[in-house]
Amino acid sequence: MSGHPALAELRRRLLVQREAGLERKLTSIGPACGPWVTVRGRRCLLMASNDYLGLAGHPALALAAREALAQGCGSGASRLISGTLDGHRLLERDIAAFKGTEAALFLPTGFMTNLALISGLTAPGDLVLSDALNHASIVDACRLSRAGLRIYPHRDAAAAAAILAEERGPGLRLIVSDGVFSMDGDAAPLPELLAVAREHGALLLVDDAHATGVWGASGRGTAEHFGVTPGPELVLMGTFSKALGGLGGFVAGDRTIIDTLVQRARPFLYSTAPPPAQAAVAARALRLVDEEPERREHLRRLCARLREGMTAAGREPLSDSGPIVPLLVGDARQAVALAEALWQRGVFVPAVRPPTVPEGTSRLRFTLTAAHNEADVDAALNALNDAWREVMA
Ligand SMILES: *Cc1c(COP(=O)(O)O)cnc(C)c1O
Repeated sequence: MSGHPALAELRRRLLVQREAGLERKLTSIGPACGPWVTVRGRRCLLMASNDYLGLAGHPALALAAREALAQGCGSGASRLISGTLDGHRLLERDIAAFKGTEAALFLPTGFMTNLALISGLTAPGDLVLSDALNHASIVDACRLSRAGLRIYPHRDAAAAAAILAEERGPGLRLIVSDGVFSMDGDAAPLPELLAVAREHGALLLVDDAHATGVWGASGRGTAEHFGVTPGPELVLMGTFSKALGGLGGFVAGDRTIIDTLVQRARPFLYSTAPPPAQAAVAARALRLVDEEPERREHLRRLCARLREGMTAAGREPLSDSGPIVPLLVGDARQAVALAEALWQRGVFVPAVRPPTVPEGTSRLRFTLTAAHNEADVDAALNALNDAWREVMA
C-alpha cells in the first residue's frame, strides 16, 4: 500500500469505521436469483434479495433479453441525441398504462431517476418536503436540487401540512416520500399526504421502488393499495430492479411532468440511454405482473407465515405487511453477530446498520420472494430462534 498522505488519511478513516463495528463487506453470491445460493462457500437460503416476485430468474425475461440483443448491446447515445429507440417508447407507453397516468419516462436506474426527478422539477426558490426516513437517492437528489429543503418526521402528514402552512413563498412545493420504506418495510400515509398536497397546491412524489409489482391487488403499488386514483398532483416513481427482476427506473405522471424532465433533468439528458435488452426485459416484466398474479398471492401467504412465526417467538417485526420484514436488534455488533449465526445455519440475511438506519436501530432485514416456499420460511424461523439464543443470551 502506498505511503501517499491522502491514502494514509483514507486508511485512517476506514479504521475508525471498522472499530465502530460499521465496516461493510462485498459478499459474492451465486447464482444471482436464489432462493438457494452459495455465500462464502456455504449453501444458504437467500432472504436478502428484493426480487420479490421471483422474476429475476424467469425464462420469459431471459428470452426477451435475447431477442432484443439482436438489435445490438448498447443504445449508442443519450436519449435526446440518437439513443431513443422504439423499445423505449413502447415501454414508456406500457408504464403509463400500468400506472394509470398520462405519460411516463424510463431511466437507467432508480437512483438516477430520483436525481433526475427532484433536480429536474425544482429550481431555486422552490421547496421540497422530505420524510426523515426517505431513501438515500432522495436525500442526495434534494442536495442536488437547489430548492429549499425541510425534513418532516417519519410518516407525519400533519407535520408536512404545518410546514406548508408556514412556508408561503411563491415557488413550487414538492412533498417526497418512499411509498414503502426500504429499511422499515412500512408504508407512507398516502391518502393523508395526498390530501395535504391538494390542500396546499403542492405536488406529491411517491417512490414506489419497493411497492411496484407487489402492493395493491394487481401489483400497481401503494396508490392501488390505498385506493388512491392518480390525479395531476401525484408523481409516481418506481424501479424495475426489485419485484420486476431487472434494472431501470421510471417516472409516471401528468404529461407536463414528463415534458419538464425531458427538457431539464440533467441525469436524464447527459447519460446514455438504457440498452434495448434492458427496456425489453422491463416491458416483459410488466406483463408478467398481470399474467402471473399467483406469485403475489403466494408471497402474501409466506410473509404472513414469517411474521406469525416471529411474533409467536416474542419478536415483533417492524412492519406488519409486505415482503420486507425487519427485526430490530439495536446494537450494530449484535446485529452482525446474529447475521453471522444465521449464515452458519444456512440462512443469509443482512444486518443493516448506521448510516443506512438511525443510530441504535441496527436490524436484521429479512426479505421474502415468491421463489420461497413454506418450508423455507419455517427453516428461517428455526435458524433465527437458535441464532437469537446463541447471540442474545
Ligand atoms: C432501491 C431503491 C432506489 C434505487 O433504485 P435502483 O434501481 O436500485 O437504483 C430508489 N428508491 C428506493 C426507495 C429504493 O429502495
